[in-house]
Amino acid sequence: MQHSLLSRFLISKLLLLNFLIPSAVLLAADVSTGCTDGKAAELCSKKQNMGERKGKSMSNKSKAIVERLRPGDDFQQALKRIAAERKLKAGVIVSAVGSFKTASMRFAGADAATEIQGPLEVVSATGTISEASMHVHLSVSDSSGKTFGGHLMPGCKVFTTIELVILDLSDEWSFERKKDEQTTYLELEPVKNSN
Ligand SMILES: [Zn+2]
Repeated sequence: MQHSLLSRFLISKLLLLNFLIPSAVLLAADVSTGCTDGKAAELCSKKQNMGERKGKSMSNKSKAIVERLRPGDDFQQALKRIAAERKLKAGVIVSAVGSFKTASMRFAGADAATEIQGPLEVVSATGTISEASMHVHLSVSDSSGKTFGGHLMPGCKVFTTIELVILDLSDEWSFERKKDEQTTYLELEPVKNSN
């Protein structure tokens, strides 16, 4: 069955990512915080715990949010809804595979969004997400294989599906944003939870 194959694929990918992501996040966001030990993550459903790594050496536990978006859904609105529903303090988009009938993104250095008519394959989406804010980049390809990439804007409408996986790091991190005087943008301020 296609569905069980997809489930197996997602589970294997999440297991792999769970080995890689905690150390990668620490390296990228806060190299001075050496210790990942903390209180055990709140128990959640078995499905959400697909990414949990078995072993005594790893005390931090990650939770996965897995959802299929449907035709007509707006990708950015769906991310906002999920973040609100899950009270997400810190999340990372692990995978978003599917298609758009239209895409809207801001290209590098541009002030305004550019709309691209589909159908388009969503070939990657990556970013940080919380209840308060998100920063997401994506790339899409058209029928000739030409690929466009940029900053996610409102107006990316799902064509057939989006298979979305978000890693919820809220037990350990809070993603806040503060204005950076150098860049003038609201930049990520990763805060390690104290307990
Ligand atoms: Zn951006």
